[in-house]
Amino acid sequence: MIKRRISRVVKIGDVLIGGGNPVVVQSMVKCPTEDIEEVLRQLKVAKELGAKVMRIAVPDKQAAEALKKIIPYSPLPLVADIHFDYKLALMAIEAKVSALRINPGNILDSNQENLTRYDKLEQVVKAAKNSNIPIRIGVNSGSLHPKYLEKYGYPTYEALVESAIEEVQILEKMGFYDIKISVKSSNVEDMISAYMLLASKVPYPLHLGVTESGSGISGYVKSSIGIGTLLYHGIGDTIRVSLTSSIEEEIKLGYEILKALGYEKRGVELISCPTCGRLEVNLFDLVDKVKKEIENVQENITVAVMGCVVNGPGEARKADIAVVGGKGKGIIYRKGKMVKVAQENQIIEAFKEVLNQVIEEKKQEEIKV
Ligand code: SF4
Repeated sequence: MIKRRISRVVKIGDVLIGGGNPVVVQSMVKCPTEDIEEVLRQLKVAKELGAKVMRIAVPDKQAAEALKKIIPYSPLPLVADIHFDYKLALMAIEAKVSALRINPGNILDSNQENLTRYDKLEQVVKAAKNSNIPIRIGVNSGSLHPKYLEKYGYPTYEALVESAIEEVQILEKMGFYDIKISVKSSNVEDMISAYMLLASKVPYPLHLGVTESGSGISGYVKSSIGIGTLLYHGIGDTIRVSLTSSIEEEIKLGYEILKALGYEKRGVELISCPTCGRLEVNLFDLVDKVKKEIENVQENITVAVMGCVVNGPGEARKADIAVVGGKGKGIIYRKGKMVKVAQENQIIEAFKEVLNQVIEEKKQEEIKV
């Protein structure tokens, strides 16, 4: 059983983050913020897939203006992602975002306005406080404050943490504690070390992510190791998988990481064997078909699909449903008990029948609870 770090709690819209609440999966809108129709489409998809919070880029005034048209129709609370210009943060708050993400590394003193970065942050903090919304201090290895780059030479994990803590202390001095922190690095080892160090120094909830983790297998691996290692140690209150890919993939992978560590019980956990020379059915085809059947199932069910009797019955004992291949046929088990034997071309139909029974039972159990 993983013992979680218990942090303070922040509230983004109606979503509680930290304090031992369920780990929140989030993603980020992947189109220009001014493209309101597409933004709303992506937000709808994100909600359907189970995201609880979405971040949205606010790179300029047009984007900040667009927020006013998006927020009233957004199905999820939005976090405005602000870099460089503190005025955009003020505009986003005015548009009623549910939270801010600011990057302390690139909100700098400005001679033009005769304002220090402290002055600018003070204005943002005051507005956030008045609107009762939290701020994520989002330090990132790719945009670390210049003074830490000078001190450490490159974005080490110590540099990320020191930068974040400096910012936390500034906000605390202003009497603001509604804080969430991230210290993302594209280097998995630095990312893990940074969060571990940070977790020992602050009481605030942590937003986990391996920044710019890439796409495909390498992106999955980096994100899963980075986020998964920290969650295994009980660290992390909300996660965002950052992939050069769709929000669908980010959210699905986020949930898979949570499921693999037992943080999330929603949906089907699929166990399938890697296949070998003992294979007795077309397992690749069978697994694809089973995946389609379980895709939208919300109940907490374990399904095992095994190629032969070597490990099949053993996995079947642990699974709610198991399909075990055997010489052109499939044996269906429920909780380890054989319930059906079907010819290979009828396995999926037999599986569906048993799956529906199990879903119905789970629903009944939930009603009783
Ligand atoms: S279950 Fe059977 S087919 Fe699958 S990997 Fe194990 S031995 Fe091979």
